[in-house]
Amino acid sequence: MRFLPIFMDTKSRKIVIIGGGDAAEAKLRTLIKTEADLLIVSNEVSNEIHNWIKEHSNIVWLKRDYNPDQLRGAVLAYAATEDPEQNARIAQDAETQGIPVNAADQKEDCSFYTPAIVDRSPVVVAIGSEGTSPGLSRALKADIEMKLPYSVGLLADTIARLREKLSHKMPNFSDRQRLWAKVFASGRALDDRLKYSPEDIETAFETALNNVPANKTGKVSLVGAGPGSLDLLTIGAQRRLHSADVIVYDRLVSQDVLDMGRKEAKYIYVGKKPGAHTTRQEEINRIIVDEASKGNDVVRLKGGDPLIFGRADEEIEALKVAGIDFEIVPGITSAAAAAASIGASLTSRGRNKSVALITGHDAKGFAEQDWTSLARDGSRAAIYMGLGASRFIQGRLLLHGAKSEYPVTIVENASRDNQKIVETTLGSLTQAIESKGIIGPAILLLGYEAMRVSNQAIRELRAGL
Ligand code: SAH
Repeated sequence: MRFLPIFMDTKSRKIVIIGGGDAAEAKLRTLIKTEADLLIVSNEVSNEIHNWIKEHSNIVWLKRDYNPDQLRGAVLAYAATEDPEQNARIAQDAETQGIPVNAADQKEDCSFYTPAIVDRSPVVVAIGSEGTSPGLSRALKADIEMKLPYSVGLLADTIARLREKLSHKMPNFSDRQRLWAKVFASGRALDDRLKYSPEDIETAFETALNNVPANKTGKVSLVGAGPGSLDLLTIGAQRRLHSADVIVYDRLVSQDVLDMGRKEAKYIYVGKKPGAHTTRQEEINRIIVDEASKGNDVVRLKGGDPLIFGRADEEIEALKVAGIDFEIVPGITSAAAAAASIGASLTSRGRNKSVALITGHDAKGFAEQDWTSLARDGSRAAIYMGLGASRFIQGRLLLHGAKSEYPVTIVENASRDNQKIVETTLGSLTQAIESKGIIGPAILLLGYEAMRVSNQAIRELRAGL
């Protein structure tokens, strides 16, 4: 992000627009909605601009040639003449005077861009593309225009009033933030909630206010972060992340998911390296208990689903012993994402009635399994934490009679941008992991092949439709 979006107070500040034609008109269309003192410098102005000058007392028209002195004291300048060279000179003058400048349609001469705006004042959505694609910004604007009801501005005004009331009743900032999260997280989609009437919001506010427990104790939500892609994060997880005071997260939680968290929350990383977990788990238990005891709402964020190879039981036990409220918000487990990415059904009528979710590692090292049943022809398994143990797994299965050509599909970084799929066989498993540079996280799908539909089959299916 090279260009920083900000909202600037323009009230009674000087903004200079040089030009009086189409380009100036386009800029002024937004500027006349502000409370700035607008100075237009141009020998001629369009009819539209003429009308604005008549209608708005905060516009002054200097019917004169441009000179750099006119920029003095301005907080912003717009070089919007119809002459690119002149605009470049104006931009240079503004730069020299330390005034942010926008040169119409001249990317290289701009120190700021004007965003596409959806105006529901006081709620304003500004969309920018750092000058790369104004057309795309406008398309996004059109989309948001349709989605954002006009009443949202009214809603914001009502909230401003209620906030004032609240600051007396609830002096603690975090408590106030939590209350607002509650008001807006009423279980409906945001689209719906934005259609609240001022009366609705007052009712939701009063209800939330009356339901704040006196001496608040915190609670812990064990939340599944899914395999990484935001698409696979649940709405429940998003809600918890938006209202959390503390977010305790693992190594496998993706940055995209973390970015959904409340900005003011305290973030605690408790990533464990594979194989080095035994003592650290107690430390994690201590952290979540301590934070919740202080009255914080804690989100314990785990990759995939918290109840699958997530050591959730140990944390739940610790929370129960400490008498702390907790809840579990499931997530999409990585095996489900891996199967989806290769288009293979995990179970299939007539093919396999069961699938084993197994781990390559447990507390003692490489994990022993029911190898006899896993080695049986037609068995299916999704193997977590299997990379380091791959030679062991391969050896055990072959020893118990599995065929060396039995298929294994490796899905590394399932659902993420850097997802990698490697199809191999049991006999070549370790070699494939090494030669393809798979370093994890990865799921080994035993007995699964990527679904392939031939072009011929697709043509036939289409023809039949
Ligand atoms: N609770 C998690 C599993 C934690 S164990 C879940 O439900 O997915 C950690 C293992 O999960 C990793 O060793 C790897 O096998 C798997 N894993 C986690 N994220 C993954 C991803 N994006 N792609 C492939 N495997 C992943």
